[in-house]
Amino acid sequence: MIPYGKQSITEADKKAVEEALCSGWLTTGPKVSEFESAFAEKIGAKHAIAVSNATAALQISLLAVGIKPGQRVVTSPNTFLASATSAALIGAIPDFCDIELTSYNLCPTSLANSWQADTKAVVAVDYAGQTANMPAISKVARDNGAVVIEDACHAVLGEFEYQDKVHQVGNHPWADITTFSFHPVKTMTTGEGGMIVTNNDEYARAAKALRTHGMVRTPDDFTGLGDAQFIEHGPWYYEMQHLGLNARITDFQCALGLSQLSRVDSFLERRREIVHQYNNAFANLDHVQIPELRNQADAKFTSWHLYTLLVDFAALGNTRSDFMTTLGNHGIGSQVLYIPVYLQPWFRNTYGYGSGKCPNAEAFYLKALSLPLFPSMTQADVHTVINAVKSTCDRAKHQGSEA
Ligand SMILES: *Cc1c(COP(=O)(O)O)cnc(C)c1O
Repeated sequence: MIPYGKQSITEADKKAVEEALCSGWLTTGPKVSEFESAFAEKIGAKHAIAVSNATAALQISLLAVGIKPGQRVVTSPNTFLASATSAALIGAIPDFCDIELTSYNLCPTSLANSWQADTKAVVAVDYAGQTANMPAISKVARDNGAVVIEDACHAVLGEFEYQDKVHQVGNHPWADITTFSFHPVKTMTTGEGGMIVTNNDEYARAAKALRTHGMVRTPDDFTGLGDAQFIEHGPWYYEMQHLGLNARITDFQCALGLSQLSRVDSFLERRREIVHQYNNAFANLDHVQIPELRNQADAKFTSWHLYTLLVDFAALGNTRSDFMTTLGNHGIGSQVLYIPVYLQPWFRNTYGYGSGKCPNAEAFYLKALSLPLFPSMTQADVHTVINAVKSTCDRAKHQGSEA
């Protein structure tokens, strides 16, 4: 079976992890800061803070920028749950505005039109690796006094062109903080893991403390325990000034991250090659839409975490379940990404959200089908997927016309 996503682990990765395990450090040690520096350098960003997963990275980011319980955080409905649950977990109100059908990302116009006075942050998701329209989104958010967090879990090392310049995800002026995930299906992996990236010194300092219970150990940061008898600050001394998480990542995970980072360019290159082949193969299929880009120039910059076709299953005379079963019979895994988050029972029950809230996201969901895309796919795998998708479309069309 060819899965829809898969990690690439080499002997070098195993060796790096083994060395870290034998180094005497298990959790926070030298590999954590080494990984952070290497990642920040790769992106060109000032600060990178490694954490246990990207859900924690989003929670910490919202806390670091000062989001308070009861404040509204708007994100895209076309995303994984965590883009929205991270806000709920800190007591804020996750809300959603519709996507644009040229990029399947948060629509700046929809964001502006649905703006509410209590919205204090926008979490912009880079669906499938294509960046959201960050300049336009940040204009709407900042004009209204809100901060911008870019959920770039799909866009590790992604770039985009704007006004004839190429900008790197994690190091451009339109996001205050950017978060990445190193879950095994993502572009590079640490098993579980995430990264918070920012050029803002204050946010970085806050994120570092929030990663480990809100504790600070640097004398410059101390405010004191209040009473004279507690004034002596010896080497044991630390303070908790904010309510944080335990979101630390281990040293051996960061050793894996460093090893993966050394190959990430080749991962991206292979992903782009496969997408190019898929696009050529599927561009002229009836009732099938290949992934659209808001800006064609971004074809060579997109990091392509997912390859999602929009299939008009009804027009093909088929259902998505049958289509996926047929692909499965050809040995091909596929996935549906994403169910609009606000349709989930918990969101409906908690906030009263329901269908009709974001029509584009709902229309997208009904047609979406993500195909296998990962760097260790062989050419034979790619051809197997292409032939199976084509023959499944043909068969479905045939059956449809007979029905
Ligand atoms: C994977 C993912 C997350 C959560 O990442 P974890 O590391 O699994 O917590 C958040 N947002 C998006 C868009 C994702 O794809």
